[in-house]
Amino acid sequence: MPYRGRFAPSPTGPLHAGSLVAALASWLDARAHAGRWLVRIEDVDTPRCQPGADRFILEQLARCGLTPDEPPVWQSRRGAIYQRALEQLIAAGRAYPCTCSRKDIEHALAARGIVRERGAELPYPGTCRPENGGPRAVNPRAWRLRADGLANAAPGEPADVVRWQDRRLGPQQQDVAQAVGDFVLQRADGLWAYQLAVVADDAAQGITHVVRGQDLADNTPRQIVLQRALGLPQPAYLHTPLVLAADGQKLSKQNGARALQLDDPLPALTAAAGRLGLPAPPAHAPLADALASWVGQWAALLRGKPATIISSPRW
Ligand SMILES: [Zn+2]
Repeated sequence: MPYRGRFAPSPTGPLHAGSLVAALASWLDARAHAGRWLVRIEDVDTPRCQPGADRFILEQLARCGLTPDEPPVWQSRRGAIYQRALEQLIAAGRAYPCTCSRKDIEHALAARGIVRERGAELPYPGTCRPENGGPRAVNPRAWRLRADGLANAAPGEPADVVRWQDRRLGPQQQDVAQAVGDFVLQRADGLWAYQLAVVADDAAQGITHVVRGQDLADNTPRQIVLQRALGLPQPAYLHTPLVLAADGQKLSKQNGARALQLDDPLPALTAAAGRLGLPAPPAHAPLADALASWVGQWAALLRGKPATIISSPRW
């Protein structure tokens, strides 16, 4: 299958040193595979989006020489694709309506002796599953995926352990039923859940390789479960190293992530390449030459024969 990769930023703010690592890595991986590179604006969670950030991110990418091979797409305009995926899951008995509030879920878990820390993920206890009587309330309905029976556990393991191979992190696994339970596909307020939008879009766009930041790695098992429920192919995954702030936390606007400089993007790109284990370009190298040299080095890494100038990839 011809390589198709994507960079999929959420327009909650401009690109910064952290998101640039994922952007550069996904672009390099596509170029080194002689594949195509797409950009998808992940703006389904509209209340969190910042007006104009999408256009600014595209401008930042262009200044960095990272130009998509096809026109960018916006998830907020692709609801019909997500609706079709949801209807397919409903028809297959894989999705069911849920009227539980967060409080309802906390109470149901407490009744089973499960107490979660504040703000922690609440594994859905299956209250509204059809076999448990369906929704009792008249609240607006969310739709959830029946997440059981879709895993690829090894013999002797819990049945809902999802295993996958990350190109950088190696073998990964998560018991989706235990860790998250039946997860939301469409929220009660009508917004599409990130997981459904990503899986439906990756399939609709023919994405073969997902290269993204490690902060998204724990979404992968849910996305694999969804791919299986929808009968879709599973892309290859590579999760790139994070850039941490001085306080050791993930870089974000809150702890001082600065938008990268548009007039001279090379220092920021060089730092991003360094995080990926790639050397700095020669002094005064033009942007195009720096990018070309990193593509060559990335291709050499893929062949398992690192160019001699790469000491050893830091990841
Ligand atoms: Zn429910």
